[in-house]
Amino acid sequence: MKKEVRVRFAPSPTGFLHVGGARTALYNWLFARHEGGKFLLRIEDTDRERSTPEMVDYIVEGLSWLGLDWDEEPIFQSHRLDVYKKYADDLVKRGLAYYARTVDEEQAGERTRREWVEAAPEEIGKVPLAVRFRVPVEGETSYEDLIRGLITFKNSEIGDFTILRSDGTPTYQLACVLDDHFMGITHVIRGEDHIPNTPKQILLYRAFGWDTPLFAHLPMILGPDKKKLSKRHGATAVLEYRDMGILPEALFNFLALLGWSPGEDREIVPKDEMIRLFDIRRVGKRAAVFDINKLLWMNSVYIRMKTDEELLRLVLPLFEERGLVKDDSDREKLLRLIPLLKERARVLPDFVEMGFYFFSDEFEYEEKGVRKYLQDPEVPGRLRLLRERLADIPEGEFRQEKIEETLRGLAGKLGIKAALLIHPTRLLLTGRTQGPGLFELMEVLGRDECLRRLDNYLKRVS
Ligand code: GLU
Repeated sequence: MKKEVRVRFAPSPTGFLHVGGARTALYNWLFARHEGGKFLLRIEDTDRERSTPEMVDYIVEGLSWLGLDWDEEPIFQSHRLDVYKKYADDLVKRGLAYYARTVDEEQAGERTRREWVEAAPEEIGKVPLAVRFRVPVEGETSYEDLIRGLITFKNSEIGDFTILRSDGTPTYQLACVLDDHFMGITHVIRGEDHIPNTPKQILLYRAFGWDTPLFAHLPMILGPDKKKLSKRHGATAVLEYRDMGILPEALFNFLALLGWSPGEDREIVPKDEMIRLFDIRRVGKRAAVFDINKLLWMNSVYIRMKTDEELLRLVLPLFEERGLVKDDSDREKLLRLIPLLKERARVLPDFVEMGFYFFSDEFEYEEKGVRKYLQDPEVPGRLRLLRERLADIPEGEFRQEKIEETLRGLAGKLGIKAALLIHPTRLLLTGRTQGPGLFELMEVLGRDECLRRLDNYLKRVS
């Protein structure tokens, strides 16, 4: 019988869940789901000073928001300190590790350098000592990376390394190996910055006499300037993207393609299909570039795939926060607006940005529009005529077809292009020179509101 695949995401709660970590989690998750295996969560919180419960909450919130669910209770390393100590001691007993302390060395009379020395037998138990793993000076340690192929390190270049600090806490190397072993992890999928840790961990597995898992190291994520992605490039925390109005489905899709491709240049790939197609061996070696414009484009695609009701649920809080939507009739109006706005929205707040004038007339006319559409001395006269004709439409018949027919009829009568009425009208009703179709938006605004907004202007120019 095939061994069950078990993978894990092992964040250190010393910072937010960043896109790099999220992509690692996502690949582990996709791999587990593809293989019908288990995706586990391990919180690497042995750095007591820098780890906080708030960060654990943020990480959990970020993963949940992205839809990356884990299959067993999360493991906290801070609860397992005695286990790490026991196994470190065991290595010491077997002569594979030793107690050590640092000495400060004078260098050129000024700088001090920390050097490790093996502790003398009489020091043991008296002074705080670290435990160091003894790495053979001879030979090589290699492994076959699922993404990068054979990787070999000279043992002489690895050097002895600390596995237990003098305060009794384990280092990452030790805790990681013990937990991966006891959690039954079959595949370690993580960022390529961990490649240099891998031979150390393999040596530990061998020292304990355990099988090593398979390793896959994911390519780095770069900013558009080809430098390692960082704060300088903009938002890096997953929840910042949520707060920006990115949909989790869009970020999921986007992150999945940072290093992997389902083939055929496909970009919009539903989750179940990703699960079906995901192949860890098809992850590229080359660094992936984080292109925010691509994410925004994907988000706009995912926005358009939602139903109007779904979008209403997502954007309603944003309109309420701004005091634009207050009651059922506002909500009903917002629902009618959504189809007009969703074609152009890239992030959720765009709905407010593009739709606020449906709920408020507190806007200035765009300057460019004033210059282009309101300078002609004929404009007030024409708009007055339009206002009269619109006022003649009974409230119940104020529908886009009827409005269009009225406006075009007037243009014909005046012998001018309809655009000469459309542009200034749009500017007076919305303050903008662009937006959804004028007749549709007039229908949503309603006859009386349209007349009122036209009057605001006409009163001023008469
Ligand atoms: N806590 C480590 C990190 O966040 C885990 C590395 C690993 O997956 O082994 O980078």
